[in-house]
Amino acid sequence: MDKPLVAASACLLGTPVRSDGEACEFRPLSRQWSEHLRLLPFCPEVGIGLGTPRPHLRLSKVDGGIRLVQPRSGKDLTDAMVAWATRTSDDLAGLGVNGLVLKEGSPSCGVNRVEVHPSEEGRVVREGVGVFTMVFMALNPHIPVIEEGRLNDPNQAEHFLARVHFHHRWQIAGQEGWTAQRLMAFHDEHEIFLVARTADAKRKLGQSIATGFDDGLPAAEVALRYMIEAQDDLNVLPRRGRFAHAMERALSRMDPSLSSARREEIIRSIHAYRKGHLPRMAPLLLLDHLAGTNGSIPPWLGHLSNPVPAATGVLAEL
Ligand code: SF4
Repeated sequence: MDKPLVAASACLLGTPVRSDGEACEFRPLSRQWSEHLRLLPFCPEVGIGLGTPRPHLRLSKVDGGIRLVQPRSGKDLTDAMVAWATRTSDDLAGLGVNGLVLKEGSPSCGVNRVEVHPSEEGRVVREGVGVFTMVFMALNPHIPVIEEGRLNDPNQAEHFLARVHFHHRWQIAGQEGWTAQRLMAFHDEHEIFLVARTADAKRKLGQSIATGFDDGLPAAEVALRYMIEAQDDLNVLPRRGRFAHAMERALSRMDPSLSSARREEIIRSIHAYRKGHLPRMAPLLLLDHLAGTNGSIPPWLGHLSNPVPAATGVLAEL
């Protein structure tokens, strides 16, 4: 439980399971982030019993619906894939997976804009979702998913990993069983995290907890609803202004005896970050220093940053 568990399309981790018998390794994930995450490979097409190499699959419009077919043989593999995806989604959730990284464009693994072919004449449209991924997201809306292509953008990578760590901390907080006190404590501890990333989630999620307990729901169900709503709110890339606002809030929590000169220094740094003149780490390091933590970042400040990208150099580019 010390590191988040992320399941990934096996071909992205270097396993040669693609239909052409090759891999398409995504090295930031397989080589760098692997130091900070536990990675779990899976391949839906191998999972349903297809060999490697194999004739390729695609999504096709059939009788108004979208099916997973093997054009060469004409086989429809949709039902087999849905059954495997349902079992495997439950298994992955049961193993405590905190996020999924999936191969873009795949008719089994793609998250969006997968090619859908017409049954006869017509043009190919990019409007599909891989069949495995569609089932997983429907069954586990509280677990963040992303395609590897989006992780090439440092902002998107940092945000995804922040969502993964948030899910992981929630899992740890609930491992002894959820109670109202534990859930409220988790929510309060993540005030700065939420304020830094979404406009209104802190208030809305607090209300959702209160409503759940007022309605007499079991604590585990309230906690699950909390994470579903939180991940939905977090499914938008945060802006600089939100982080800057959260840093100002963090500064306001600092020891009131801090000299005004030191406060001025960090306020100037936050403003420079807001305008794009400094990376986010600059005011964060000053906050850390002013908090006097000597490198051990307190929880409310640590939630502004993310140890994984910082260690891999991704955050340094922000
Ligand atoms: S089904 Fe998914 S994991 Fe398997 S080869 Fe295709 S993209 Fe990779």
